Amino acid sequence: MASGQLSRAEALACSGCRHACHVMLYCDTKSQLFGRLPIRHIILMQMRFDGLLGFPGGFVKPSEETLEAGLSRELLEELGVALPILVEDHADSCYAPASSHSSSSSSSSRLITHFYVKKMEEEQIREVERAAASTATDHGQEVLGMVRVPLYTTKGGGGLAAFLSHSFIGNARSQLADSLLRLNLVAPEELHKALTHSLKIHTQTAEDLQVAFALTEAKRKRF
Ligand code: AMP
Ligand code: MN
Repeated sequence: MASGQLSRAEALACSGCRHACHVMLYCDTKSQLFGRLPIRHIILMQMRFDGLLGFPGGFVKPSEETLEAGLSRELLEELGVALPILVEDHADSCYAPASSHSSSSSSSSRLITHFYVKKMEEEQIREVERAAASTATDHGQEVLGMVRVPLYTTKGGGGLAAFLSHSFIGNARSQLADSLLRLNLVAPEELHKALTHSLKIHTQTAEDLQVAFALTEAKRKRF
């Protein structure tokens, strides 16, 4: 177990803690982008109500439900399908980072996040995507849309690097990177290259934001 992580049992022993469970649903695919770039795997994430990328899931009350049953309940709300989650799907548990984005900062009790990984068939993943945009009660509310994670790198360096440079909730970016390596979905060398490029994109983004900022400043002064 990596440092800073808790076993499922240790995490549950903290009665004063709040608990949240999230899952990475994924499948293999033979499909190709532009008919030539292998997509290899479909990994589902979501654009959340707060504008951040994250995994589906949410708060669970271990005094009233098991972690897995609570996660299934959250998935029904967010994805519109009842997906059974098993103890065997548990990947890790850890204390959530104190973050300015996080709503957990308004509460004094510590938040433990439990992460699950579930491999599915490609048709099941497509069904989840359809239901999430049609029958899910949270669609357009807590969830603004499901997104697939691009694992490839285009000629211009786009794809995984650009995706990783966006803003993520809590430790979702680390959960993604860790899963990519653990499940052999991306080679360590490839991920390293993508992250190096992400840092450059991040610098460009800061410059872009400055331009937009200057624009609004000029407008504000005119009124
Ligand atoms: P949610 O209901 O999905 O917003 O999740 C419940 C809590 O878990 C929120 O306070 C989030 O800040 C936090 N959270 C959501 N996703 C993650 C994640 N991937 N890693 C760590 N914390 C998260
Ligand atoms: Mn959620």
